This record gives sequence, structure tokens and C-alpha cells, in this order.
Amino acid sequence: MRTLLLGTPVLLKVRFHGRGGQGVKTSCRILGRAAFLTGYVAQDSPIYGAERRGAPVAGFTRIADQPILERGYIFDPHILIVMDETLLEDWMAKPLEGLVDGGIVFINTSHHQHFPETNNHYIVVEHNLTDEALDIIGKPVISAPAAAAAAKLTGVIEKQALLEATAEELYEIGLDDETIQKNLHVVSNVFEKVPTVPHRFNEAPAARRQVISLTVGKVVLHEISNMGNAYLRRTGNWRIFRPVVDYEKCTGCMICFIYCPDSVISLDEANKPVIDYDNCKGCMICMVECPLRAISAVREGKIVA
Ligand code: SF4
Ligand code: SF4
Repeated sequence: MRTLLLGTPVLLKVRFHGRGGQGVKTSCRILGRAAFLTGYVAQDSPIYGAERRGAPVAGFTRIADQPILERGYIFDPHILIVMDETLLEDWMAKPLEGLVDGGIVFINTSHHQHFPETNNHYIVVEHNLTDEALDIIGKPVISAPAAAAAAKLTGVIEKQALLEATAEELYEIGLDDETIQKNLHVVSNVFEKVPTVPHRFNEAPAARRQVISLTVGKVVLHEISNMGNAYLRRTGNWRIFRPVVDYEKCTGCMICFIYCPDSVISLDEANKPVIDYDNCKGCMICMVECPLRAISAVREGKIVA
């Protein structure tokens, strides 16, 4: 196993932000494989919201010289790869959030010096990946070029490993030889053109993220980030149908209380069920299990709570 360079964190974290269709998943996979082929331990994974072309997507690659115990979303990246500059203004994507002090932000942009905030807290590197891809591949496909930029900025990935990883990943997703060769050409160019940036990451512990509430019009949106806060996630708005108890039929047998997978049914003094509609997700298991058919499904919006 390779030892990470002096000045590089024990666990190097790279977060990609792109849009559905840009190949974020492939980018983080190429980087992870390139790290592995260079001799490191690597982990990569993407996260999608709604799986739609254009929707914000993020991907994560962790690189280390020892087993990686951390999993999931990278909240405190050392390197951010912003594959579409419009994401900088996207309040849902929030690509700069959590970047460690001294971190590196790479922006795929056609407007150099477009980003105003080069400051003491992070280093901005801009490059036009889209034009590179259009010139050689003929399409604005930047999954491999973005991985190349990230690989260069890590300072620890060997170019040959990057090229091998790119060829293997693109082959696995079914690209033909000619397209793979064109991608390798762009990857090689990007790896050479993106500058080497000395790492000055401040590894002071990042402040724990708090639950943030955003107000859009009259709607308050809660972003849940910390561990152990699932109780704050109101799943009531997932419902299409609302379970409604007919207390004339209900005998208080408690079966619905036992079967509710989310434990959102409580019992009153007479053992009659009381449903917490803020958290009832509308699975209707209670209705199916009720032996007296005392629970019915009412289309949401047709009754007033
Ligand atoms: S619909 Fe599902 S979540 Fe809601 S009360 Fe019934 S069993 Fe529980
Ligand atoms: S299962 Fe039906 S009868 Fe039993 S407590 Fe629930 S609603 Fe009432």
C-alpha cells in the first residue's frame, strides 16, 4: 500500500458536483480506480436526488493509505470538483458547503476569472473541460476530464494509473474503442494543463453541521445533516393516501399499532389508535392489517386535518 505524501491528509476527500447526464458517477469511479491502481485504498460512490437529466448530482471519492472506515456523504471535502459552474448559484446543490480551510475548488467554466472569491480560505482552479471535450470527443461529455482534473489536484495519482482507470471504466460502461481513445486524449491533456496545487489543508476539526432551515416563500425546508436527527424528518408529505380510522368500527385491538413500521400510531386511554400525520408516510399497512376494516384510505387533499 502506498503512503500518502507529506502534507496530504491521511484521508483525502474529493467531492464532485455535476448535473444528471454529466457523468458524475463515472468521474468518481475513475478517480477511485486510478487511486487504487496507484496503490492506495479508495472508495467511491455517487448520490442522486431525482434521477433526471440536469438535476444536481454529487459523487464522492475517498483516498487513503490505510483502511477507510468512513462511509456516505463527504461533508468536509479537501477538493471540490464543480462540473457545471451554474451549480455555484444552485441553493440545493450548495457545492462549496463544508470545504475545509485551504481546500481546492475546481470549476469547469468558460469564463476565466469568473469566480470572485479566491481568498485565503480556499484555492480556485478554473479550466474549460467542456470545450476540451467538444474539441476532441465531439460531445460535452466531461466525466473522464473531470476525473483527470481531480486526479491532478490530489497530487498523488499517477498519470498512467489515471489513463488505465479511464479506459477500464469507460469500457465497462460500454463505450466503443474510438470514443475511449478520444477520452484518453482529453484526459491526458487535462492532466497536463491543470496546475499542481500545493496542499495547505487545515485539518482543524470541522464544525459539526447543524440542521439548517431554509424558507422559500411560506415553505420552510429542513435540511437534515447530523446523526440521530431522523425524528426531525417529517415524512407526512410522502403520503398520497391518508389512513383514517373509523372509531365506530374500531375495537381497540391494537393490531395497527403493532404493525405500523414507523411507530407513528399511538394509543389513547381506550387503546384506540391515534395517527401522527406529521410522520405517517401513507404505506397503508395499518389498513391492510386491521381485522375489522376500520381504517380506510382517503386521498390526500380531500380531507382537512
Ligand atoms: S399508513 Fe403506514 S405509516 Fe401511516 S399509520 Fe398506517 S402503517 Fe403507519
Ligand atoms: S387494527 Fe383496526 S380495530 Fe384494531 S386498533 Fe387498529 S383500527 Fe382499531
